[in-house]
Amino acid sequence: MERRFDVTPVGEWDIFPEGRPLIIAGPCSAESEIQVMETARRLKDLGIGVFRAGLWKPRTHPNTFEGVGAAGLKWLQRVKSELGMKICTEVACEKHIFDCLKFGVDMVWIGARTTANPFLVQELADALKDVDMPVLVKNPVSPDPDLWAGALERFSQAGIKKLGVIHRGFSTSGRIKYRNSPEWKIAIEFRSRYPEIPFFCDPSHIAGDRKYVREISQRSLDLGLDGLMIESHCDPTCALSDAAQQLTPADLGVMLRGLTVREQDSDSPDYRENIDQLRARIDIIDEDLLSLLGERMEVSRRIGEYKKLNNIAILQTSRWDSVLEKVLSKGAELGLPAEFVKMIFNGIHDASVAVQNEILSDQNGASRGCR
Ligand code: PEP
Ligand code: MN
Repeated sequence: MERRFDVTPVGEWDIFPEGRPLIIAGPCSAESEIQVMETARRLKDLGIGVFRAGLWKPRTHPNTFEGVGAAGLKWLQRVKSELGMKICTEVACEKHIFDCLKFGVDMVWIGARTTANPFLVQELADALKDVDMPVLVKNPVSPDPDLWAGALERFSQAGIKKLGVIHRGFSTSGRIKYRNSPEWKIAIEFRSRYPEIPFFCDPSHIAGDRKYVREISQRSLDLGLDGLMIESHCDPTCALSDAAQQLTPADLGVMLRGLTVREQDSDSPDYRENIDQLRARIDIIDEDLLSLLGERMEVSRRIGEYKKLNNIAILQTSRWDSVLEKVLSKGAELGLPAEFVKMIFNGIHDASVAVQNEILSDQNGASRGCR
C-alpha cells in the first residue's frame, strides 16, 4: 500500500488516552471561563482526555459572535493545568499559532474554510516549522480530495509528523437532512489513499442537529475511522454558535456508551478461517466478473466495427433503454438495489461507447488518410 506521508502513529502523540475511539470533545466556542470550566469538568468525568473549544470563529455572517479570541487561551490553560486534559483549538493564521504556543495548546485543527485556502495553509505550515505540534486538517468545504491532500502535503513538508484529518462533511446545494453532506465515498477513498493518517469524523458539523450525531458517529465507527471530534456544551440551547448541534456532556456520555466499536481485525482462529474462506470466494468471483467484462467488451468492440461498416451511429438510445430495463428487473429479482445496478451498467455502457468511439475515429482517420 502506498504510504505518502511520514506520520507518527497516533498512539505516540502523547495526546489521547488509551482505547478506541479517540475522542475530542468540547464546545463549538469558548464563551466564558465558567462555561469552559463547567463543560470541561463534566467531560473529564466521562473519561474524556482531549478538550476542544473554538476561540477564533470563522462565521458565515458578520456581526455574529466571532469568538472570544486570544482572551480564551487562559481558560484553556486552566483546563489543562487543573483538570489535566489536553487542549486544542482552531487556528487560521500565524498569529493564532504563536498565541497558542504561548499558552501551551497541545494540538490545533485547521478549519474547513482555511483548508480551502492554500495561502493560509502555507502560512500556517511555515509558522509550525520546527514545532512539534499535532495538526488535524479538516476537509475543505467543497468535495475536493486533492485540495485536502494538498494541505496535508504543506504541513508534511514543513516537518509536521503528528498529522491527522477530520471529516466534517461538504457543503452542498442539494436538499439533505444534514447540515453538510457526509459523502462517505470520498471519505473512504481518502482513508484508503492515506491509511497512515489518523482519521477523525466530526459528526456535529455533518449533522447540524444533535439528533443526528449518534447515527453519524456510529457510521464512522462502522467504517473503521479512528476517532470522533464532537461538540459538547454545558448548556447547548444557550450556545453562542452552533446551538442546535451541541450535546450536553451527559447526553454525550449516553451516546458514547451506546456506540459499537468495531475492531480493525481479530486474532480469533474461527474468525480468521471463515473470513479467509469468504475472501477467497470473493477473489474468485472478482476474477470471473473481470473476465466476463472483458468478454462483453470484446463483443462491444465487434458491434462497433459492424456499425462502422454499415455507417450506423454509435448510440441507439432505445436499445440502451431496453438493456437498462432488462437488467433493472433482473437485478430486482436478485435483490440488488436499483441505484447500484444503474451505476454499474452506466459505467459499463460508458466504457463500451468509448471503445466504439475509438473504432469510429480510427476509421475517420484512415479515410482522411486515403484522400
Ligand atoms: C468548528 O469545529 O467549530 C468549525 C468551525 O468547524 P468547520 O471548520 O468544520 O466548520
Ligand atoms: Mn461549531
